Amino acid sequence: MRDYDVLVIGGGVVGSAVARELTRYRLKIGVLERESDVCTQTSGRNTGMLHAGFLYKPGTLKAKCAVEGNGEFDRVAKELDVPFRRTGKLIVGFTEEHRRRLLAMIERGRENGVPGMELIDRARMDEIDPSAGGNFAVFCPTSGILDPFLYTIALAENAVHNGADYHLYTNVTGAARLDDGRIVLNTNRGEFSARWVVNSAGLNSAVISEMLGIPGYRIQPIKGEYFVLDKKAGVFAKIPVYPAPTERNTFDTHATPTVDGNVLVGPNSFPVEDGEDYSVSRSGMNGLQESGAKMFRHMKREYYIRTFAGARPKRVDPQTGEIQDFLIERRDEVPGVINLVGIESPGLTSALPIARRAVRLIEEKERLIPNDAFDPVRRGIRRFHEASVSEKRQLVAENPDYGEIICRCETVTRAEILAAIHNPLGVTTVNGIKVRTRASMGRCQGGYCEMRITAMIREELGKAAEDVRLTNGRSFMFTGAVKGGEQA
Ligand SMILES: Cc1cc2nc3c(=O)[nH]c(=O)nc-3n(C[C@H](O)[C@H](O)[C@H](O)COP(=O)(O)OP(=O)(O)OC[C@H]3O[C@@H](n4cnc5c(N)ncnc54)[C@H](O)[C@@H]3O)c2cc1C
Repeated sequence: MRDYDVLVIGGGVVGSAVARELTRYRLKIGVLERESDVCTQTSGRNTGMLHAGFLYKPGTLKAKCAVEGNGEFDRVAKELDVPFRRTGKLIVGFTEEHRRRLLAMIERGRENGVPGMELIDRARMDEIDPSAGGNFAVFCPTSGILDPFLYTIALAENAVHNGADYHLYTNVTGAARLDDGRIVLNTNRGEFSARWVVNSAGLNSAVISEMLGIPGYRIQPIKGEYFVLDKKAGVFAKIPVYPAPTERNTFDTHATPTVDGNVLVGPNSFPVEDGEDYSVSRSGMNGLQESGAKMFRHMKREYYIRTFAGARPKRVDPQTGEIQDFLIERRDEVPGVINLVGIESPGLTSALPIARRAVRLIEEKERLIPNDAFDPVRRGIRRFHEASVSEKRQLVAENPDYGEIICRCETVTRAEILAAIHNPLGVTTVNGIKVRTRASMGRCQGGYCEMRITAMIREELGKAAEDVRLTNGRSFMFTGAVKGGEQA
């Protein structure tokens, strides 16, 4: 049995933020993640908005954590080397009813402490972004966009740098209590024990909560589908454009530029049974085409390069189905458990504020000794594409692998792919390389580079072809030889 002070179940953005914040103290920390990487679930399936915090009911954890997370993100992005731009956001209206809702939204923003929101006319909108639809808008200057994959990876890598252990492919299947009060977690990779267990299992958080002795929560997955548009469309998109909130105070389809120059159009929003079914529907995508065009005037089929889906883990009242706030709890009758349930949007923005609150709940019960060696800084892989001409020359002179382009669409070099293959978390999948480098995220979607990346994974890690996976244990790149009867 492997022993820890704290075990975190789920290595998404929230679990990784918790692990990273815990490494500020002298604790032995383990993260148990059932997938092949930290951003295969909700943390890698979202819009990548740093929300400002104007949408949520004043006084709620969603409001407080979003405003706190937003306020600190310039520093966080710098510390962790995460691509981020404080773009601001337009929330646009077409009708007088929309105007009424937008004015109420400004008021709510004020109550939540969101600075600088103002109602602007079409002329001002044209100055900010002529490709935005709408007759008038609220401009919110503090909203921003970030790379959700690299943020999650950066938190995890920084946690590892500061001493945390990540156990990928480790599925928690049961829990028990030892005589001394420690909690034992059963997994497909043996038993782990700890004084504290943090449940940050996302869509699975209600199941894990029950496993740990706190039943009664219900998670309703709400699916959202997206189009990813080519960078050719991205040149028109200056700022995220959202529609006026619905009557239920949620947002329909929006158009959001990404930090890398693409545009995301979506998500729609509908309840599903299985939150981890990430297929997209024809009807959903047709709907996005129509609603997306209202937000973004360059919404054309020729720009579509990919679709994807994610599901928000909404905690709902089991009786009424009413949507609830984030839950961050510790119960005296179930010692050693920190429960994070229903961390839906704005969970990406709120990951660090949630993590600090989780650590505080532990600190209320035992004295935590600061880790004087804690280093908040993490450096990502140096991107050739972003370097100036003279920097490129220098990179190639120092490391000739920067002189070989593997992904032509995104100009990703061999040096970057090698750095990604030898990542600190030990992720070995093709998609793991993709989210770390952007290789295969361009116009051809891996048609050119995917096989070269697969070959590099095989060579570098000494893997047989049939052992290389796209994302998880079930997604084979090769299953056998086509010709000659030999094994691939
Ligand atoms: C469509 C959509 C758009 C969104 N847009 C935004 C946005 O723009 N801005 C924003 O702030 N937020 C946004 N969010 C919300 C945000 O993405 C989530 O709140 C956040 O990613 C949740 O992180 P997490 O770590 O809790 O969940 P996850 O990333 O799902 O992590 C949970 C992890 O737990 C693991 N796990 C589950 N069960 C087990 C087990 N038994 N054993 C081991 N591991 C287990 C899973 O494999 C998973 O990796 C959006 C969400 C969606 C779906």
